[in-house]
Amino acid sequence: ATPTAVMVATGVGANNGVLIKGGDALERAQMVKYVVFDKTGTLTQGKASVTTAKVFNGMARGEFLTLVASAEASSEHPLAKAIVEYTRHFHFLDEPSTTKDAQKSSNESNYSGWLLDVSDFSALPGKGVQCFIEGKQILVGSRKLLTENGISIPKFAEDFVVELEESAKTGILVAYDSSLIGVLGVADPLKREAAVVVEGLTKMGVKPVMVTGDNWRTARAVAREVGIQDVRAEVMPAGKADVIRSFQKDGSIVAMVGDGINDSPALAAADVGMAIGAGTDIAIEAAEYVLMRNNLEDVITAIDLSRKTFTRIR
Ligand code: ADP
Ligand code: MG
Repeated sequence: ATPTAVMVATGVGANNGVLIKGGDALERAQMVKYVVFDKTGTLTQGKASVTTAKVFNGMARGEFLTLVASAEASSEHPLAKAIVEYTRHFHFLDEPSTTKDAQKSSNESNYSGWLLDVSDFSALPGKGVQCFIEGKQILVGSRKLLTENGISIPKFAEDFVVELEESAKTGILVAYDSSLIGVLGVADPLKREAAVVVEGLTKMGVKPVMVTGDNWRTARAVAREVGIQDVRAEVMPAGKADVIRSFQKDGSIVAMVGDGINDSPALAAADVGMAIGAGTDIAIEAAEYVLMRNNLEDVITAIDLSRKTFTRIR
């Protein structure tokens, strides 16, 4: 392709909300053999909502939700946003009218005066969050996060989490002051175009793969819905990059599509990194393509554009 053709293709991409950082990335996309998709926020809408909140220790629901949402308030993760949003609504319905007035005057549902002070916050990509509230440690996240911190998960809680996972939901466990105090169930629907795009890629001779930090049970349920056979679950951020490299071993060209901080090592390792425009800045920086419309159809647009630009004879 001539420099002019590359320029034109880059322009066509931009007009379709596909930002391409340079001609090399544009050229590699035509040869893509595997497209590895992150799950949360990539195949799914990333607009998770809390469907269940179960408290185990007799704490009032409002108090439980406030603790969890306060811990999650500084996380950018879609699951964190879902929890904060749910708690916001809970308080809006629950609080006395004076607080409601305060909420109204401070821009409706953006009022967050109920949040507790948090110290020593850390986000643990692929696992959850950790911080201290009122001098006690709180952990919000996966089983792995809790067990690694020496928190035991009683059978009734495990059964409850399994039940959530079998219906494609993510179970979020909450430990406070060294014991499990509750579980939240979060549902994150697939993007409407996800299954069609997976089918389209297959027809183009490209193999779709799903990689996620989420647990195997939820991962399998989601993969079944979207029509992906090759699934890798419970993969930590560095592990996502290893998955990419394993596909590259035989010289295959691999694209990664992701949105999160946890996807950035894989986006960087991929031959073609594609970040969801609504994703985190770190993912966008690590990628060569940015899909500004947040629509997975643009993965196909990007490959098509490259094929059309670089294939001399069609
Ligand atoms: P994905 O790879 O599908 O984008 P992540 O790697 O971001 O998923 O997260 C993997 C798992 O880690 C989640 O399913 C959840 O159990 C847990 N997790 C990560 N971040 C958070 C958070 N902020 N709050 C609660 N759980 C979290
Ligand atoms: Mg994600």
